[in-house]
Amino acid sequence: MGRRLLLVFMIDALGFRVARESGSFEFLEAPDGPVASVCGYSSACIPSLLTGRPPVDHGHWGMYLRDPERSPFRRYRPLIRILAGALGCDYLTRRILVRALWHAGIRGYCSLYQIPLRLLPQFDLCEKHDLYAPGGVVPFETPFDAAERLGLPWKAWAWRTPEAERRAQLAAAIDAGRAAMLFLYSPEFDGVGHAAGTRSEAARACLRETAGFVAAMLARAERTYDEVRLLVFGDHGMADVVGVHDLQRPLEALGLRSPEEVLYFIDSTMVRVWSFRAGVRERVEALLAEARCGRILTDEECADLGVLFPDRRYGETIFLADPGQIFVPSFMGDSAPRGMHGYHPADIDSNTILLGNFAHGPVRSIMDIGPLLTRELEAVAAHG
Ligand SMILES: [Zn+2]
Repeated sequence: MGRRLLLVFMIDALGFRVARESGSFEFLEAPDGPVASVCGYSSACIPSLLTGRPPVDHGHWGMYLRDPERSPFRRYRPLIRILAGALGCDYLTRRILVRALWHAGIRGYCSLYQIPLRLLPQFDLCEKHDLYAPGGVVPFETPFDAAERLGLPWKAWAWRTPEAERRAQLAAAIDAGRAAMLFLYSPEFDGVGHAAGTRSEAARACLRETAGFVAAMLARAERTYDEVRLLVFGDHGMADVVGVHDLQRPLEALGLRSPEEVLYFIDSTMVRVWSFRAGVRERVEALLAEARCGRILTDEECADLGVLFPDRRYGETIFLADPGQIFVPSFMGDSAPRGMHGYHPADIDSNTILLGNFAHGPVRSIMDIGPLLTRELEAVAAHG
């Protein structure tokens, strides 16, 4: 019986261009060329990658969606009003709310960033479950669900475990030789790209180091297993930031009451707006149309991108930044990163790459990756 390991590294923001330019992964093949991502941030890309479905199917797009009824922050309105509003304890309130999310049973990746606290009760989070555990994107099957269904031993490490620890645990699991799939997600390169830009020495060094680790784990696994099938990919790429724009001030200058008349969520590369009074939507859209750093997506475009939600829970008006342009301040923070993602997937820097050491079916989109992992697991199970 040949014992085969599926060894998987998901490197957040591993763009096609940077991976190629760095030359660090030349020991692997990338026969598919650029792999298209989906419109959105990792909160959308990773569920799409794992399930093979567009955001409109699995429901995950922005980290936050409008749903005041189901908002986990709804019951904390008095706390927000008194502690943050009257007493000005913003930091303490945020700490309490983060803990409240855990108590509300939310196990997905989330952060309060710099979202205005008084607006939080308007929003719900899309990622309720741990994506790297079975049932992460119910009712759709991820490779982790597939491994469970097939009765194959597997392990996955993601953002919850620090990098050094997850690397050590992966090495130990390889040496133990019991798993059919070992999956490691690393956000390190994404962090370096944001901080230093994709063409920085820091980014190149991070990729070199990451590739060295991947090569070492492959060699290590080949000592224990008869066959190691390795895949390395990102969930999206990253573009270098070339322009910074403040849309918050002009939006506030419209003098509309929020959340009574208008509600907006300012992401780094997207402004999503809901309007609740006649004429408001037109005023907001006129303002956005004047901003020379992006454009309002039509419903047709949103449908093509798989992000047209019939109930508009992610926004009625979607303003998407042009590649390299970002909004600062935003609900994400008030300093500008050097690199950003979350642009139109047609932009060349949105593409990721799929590197591997074995022949497989064509991969054109991140939505082909989860199904590929599942097929590989099914092949392992069939050869038992
Ligand atoms: Zn990122």
